[in-house]
Order: sequence, then structure tokens, then C-alpha cells
Amino acid sequence: MAKLNENFLKLAPSYLFSDIAKKVAAYKEAHPDKRIIRLGIGDVTQPLAPAVIEAMHKAVDEMASADTFRGYGPEQGYDFLRKAILENDFLVRGIPLDMDEIFINDGAKSDTGNIGDILARDNVIGVTDPIYPVYIDSNVMAGRAGDHADGLWTDIVYMPCNGDNDFTPSLPEKKVDVVYLCYPNNPTGTVITRQQLKAWVDYALQNDVLIMYDAAYEAYIQDEGIPHSIYEIEGAKQVAIEFHSFSKTAGFTGTRCGYTVVPKSVKARTSDGERVSLNQIWLRRQCTKFNGTSYITQRGAEAAYTPEGKAQVKATIAYYMENARIMREAFAGMGIKTYGGENAPYIWVQTPHGMTSWEFFDALLQEANVVGTPGVGFGPAGEGYFRFTAFGQKEDCLEAMERVKRWLQG
Ligand SMILES: *Cc1c(COP(=O)(O)O)cnc(C)c1O
Repeated sequence: MAKLNENFLKLAPSYLFSDIAKKVAAYKEAHPDKRIIRLGIGDVTQPLAPAVIEAMHKAVDEMASADTFRGYGPEQGYDFLRKAILENDFLVRGIPLDMDEIFINDGAKSDTGNIGDILARDNVIGVTDPIYPVYIDSNVMAGRAGDHADGLWTDIVYMPCNGDNDFTPSLPEKKVDVVYLCYPNNPTGTVITRQQLKAWVDYALQNDVLIMYDAAYEAYIQDEGIPHSIYEIEGAKQVAIEFHSFSKTAGFTGTRCGYTVVPKSVKARTSDGERVSLNQIWLRRQCTKFNGTSYITQRGAEAAYTPEGKAQVKATIAYYMENARIMREAFAGMGIKTYGGENAPYIWVQTPHGMTSWEFFDALLQEANVVGTPGVGFGPAGEGYFRFTAFGQKEDCLEAMERVKRWLQG
């Protein structure tokens, strides 16, 4: 009989969003007349940009004719998209890359989860707490996490983020081989300065650490000085793999496209001590397990880089960031400590009156009919915090803040 990868049994089912859905459904049933405003979802709501739609329609038409039909494309993505990425996301920032260091994928979740395929099981993994759960869970599946105890994994090295350090992680105290960083951060909405990121790159260079850098929200950065890519830091091409996504940038959560940068100079060592470039290894992995993102989707992603596409995407991000401003200022006006929301579509709020994350969730639902996400759902250090997303409608954000004000100050 086939033997199970028992690491999967160690993973508790993720109840966070189903628990939220259950509580909301129960409340709705008891109070059918109330209108609930949802500011919890990590999904965008605005439609694809017109330039993207137009490009995708055109690509569909190409697929409809034998002369222009495309079958399997290159596993690592079409050159037209890799060129647009190279020029618009890297060369303009003074970052030279080779085209074959860019791998198009069907979204950043896949590759942040899959990248562990090319690493040995006995790597020590470092993560922040709170965290985007994919980084940990994919390592649990690979057998790198040990056992689960008190909300933490015994073999994972945690870098706690909390009010004391303004949700900025310190360098790990124990030796790690791989570190996951996400900036701008989901769930806290915090960013990393150039100086702080340089400290991480220097640490990685000195200690032979591989950094997995998730830049899914870089398009939300408003402040000039905040780095959009880890490769803006000297030496990062030696130590970092970077993940990008069109999901939050161009509304591709349902369309699916992203890319991963694996510089040729990033290496991992064999048990004999030989240093091997990861670029070729990742290519080999992709060519075996992935057959490329659809041509239609890649044409859509390419269009996000045209002048019209850029302007349209920028306007959508400005819409979400206005929501973020409304919420950030409303909470600040109520004397509630907030993080994020300035360079990210997330507001991370300290729950008032010392409530736990779930106590605040329940009270907010009952008293204001507003739904958000309990911070503790992203890790134990998130206890006492709460995440609001800026991906909703502006009118809903305004009304939600009015209701919260009436509740907390009424
Ligand atoms: C949304 C998100 C992504 C992107 O996921 P896709 O698979 O590209 O939709 C990646 N990382 C983080 C932290 C995210 O929140």
C-alpha cells in the first residue's frame, strides 16, 4: 500500500477563514436585517485594467486561428513578458538581471511554496511571527518544521514581531540556513527601510543564509526611499530569491500570474561542500513540474506594463490606498495604535481595552457589524492585534469607520 507523507498529518487544518465565515453566517442568521461590512478579505475587488482586458481579448483571438495559435509555451515564460518585467521592474531601478533569471509562474503562492523542492530537508528555516502561512506550512510538508507545540514549530526559528519592536524583526538569534521575509508585509502592513534591508543582506552574506524575499506588495510602496526589490541592495544577488505577483498589483488574484527571480549567483551547497547555482536547478524543477502560465494570461500581464496599463493599475492602487488612509486616520483619531496602511493595503490595529484578537472580532461583529481578521490567526505574536484590508469599497470603509467610532466612543 502507498505510504503517506505523514508531515501532512502534522498540519492542523487552517480554520482561520472558515471560523470567521461560520461566525459571520451565525450572526447573519440571527440578525438578517443587519448589513455586514467585510474588511477582512485578502482579495482585491476592482476589475482588471482595461489595457489588460484588451490584450487578453486579442490573445484569445490569436488562439482562435491556426496561423497564430500557441500551444505549449516556454516553461519559464515568454520572452515578451520577461523583457517587460526586466525593463520595468529592474532596469529602471538600476538592477541588471539576465532574462533567464526571471521565471514566470501562475502566482507567487505556488513558487513560495514550491521553492523548497530544491533544498535539502535538513535546512533550518527562519520566519517572522506573525507571518503569511504558506512559508511555514510548505516547510512542514517537507519535514523541516519538527513538531507543533503552543502555536509554534519546534525546528523553526522565529523572529517575533510585536509592539516592542514596531513589528520589525531582529536578526535570528540561532543559526538558520533560510529566512523568509515579506515586504511590504502581509499581515502587518509594515515596510523595511533600505538600511534595515541592507542589514539583512549583510547578515546573509556573512552567515551563508538564503533569503526568500516576497515582494508581492511592492507596487503599494508610496515613500521614495523604501526598496521595491531586495536587489536594490548591494550583494543581494548572492543571497536572495525574490517573488513577485500580479495579483495585488494588477488585480490578477483570479487570473493567476507572477514571477520568481533566481539569480545565477545564488547558491546552495551539497553535502560535499560544493556550491551549486540554484538557477539551473530551479529551471530543471520547473521544466519537469510546470508547463508554463497561459499565453493569454501572460499577454494580460505584459499589458500592465504599457503606459495605459501602468496608469490604470496605478489608479486602482490609489483607490485602495485611499481606503487605507481612511481607516488608518480613523483609528488614530480614536486613539488606537495602528501599523501599516501607508505603503501597504493592510492596517494592523492594536485591539482596544486589552481585548484578545478573537474577543475584538466578536465585539466588532456584534456592535459594528464589521468583519476583519484576528491577528493571532497569523501567529502567536499577532495576539492582541487585528488586520483590516483596504481592498473593499470606499463607501464601505467610510461607513465601517463611522460604525466603529459610534461603538467605541458612544
Ligand atoms: C497575496 C499574496 C501573495 C500572492 O499570491 P498569488 O499566488 O500570486 O496570488 C504572495 N505573498 C503574500 C504575502 C500575499 O499576501
